[in-house]
Amino acid sequence: MKYLNICIDIDGTITDPYFWLERVANHFWLTVNYDEFIQYEFHKVLKISEMEYDKFYEEHKLEYHSEDILRNSVVEVINELYNYNNIYFVSARDKSLEMLTLSYLKNNNISFDGLSVLGSHYKVNEAKKLKCDIFIEDNLNNALNLSEAGFKVLLINTTYNQGELNENIKRTYNWIQILSEVKTLIYSNNAV
Ligand SMILES: [Mg+2]
Repeated sequence: MKYLNICIDIDGTITDPYFWLERVANHFWLTVNYDEFIQYEFHKVLKISEMEYDKFYEEHKLEYHSEDILRNSVVEVINELYNYNNIYFVSARDKSLEMLTLSYLKNNNISFDGLSVLGSHYKVNEAKKLKCDIFIEDNLNNALNLSEAGFKVLLINTTYNQGELNENIKRTYNWIQILSEVKTLIYSNNAV
């Protein structure tokens, strides 16, 4: 039996956002000041122009995204959840990254039921389409949009997603805690 439809973001949620920032910084021969990683706009953190960042991203997205580092315990936790839930990845990545993302998930032995690459940060319609029960995200704006539309969100803690949350969002700190939160939700939904 499948209990929940779980939607999961990719960048910064299953992958390590600090690794990506380091990668970009190395490319531009810059040093990362982590105190400034309080916003999810890499060009602002590294004080380069948006155009420079976009050009870099277009040129290197295939190479660098294929080398993304996963957060601790992601594979074990998602594969366990997959046994009794539907797992849908929902990413703002653009369509040009669809095949690479599919291969990346498969090469890392992550089990899942679907992948949506939206090319946009707006995820509410996709969450509705997938009848999402819980959304796992690292982006505060996405979390707020989704929660205001009535979806439960687990926000994985980062330096750039600090801020006030509402009752539909719970801040979590790692994937082991996410597993336990999802199990708690399943138990409470099925309590007699
Ligand atoms: Mg993300």
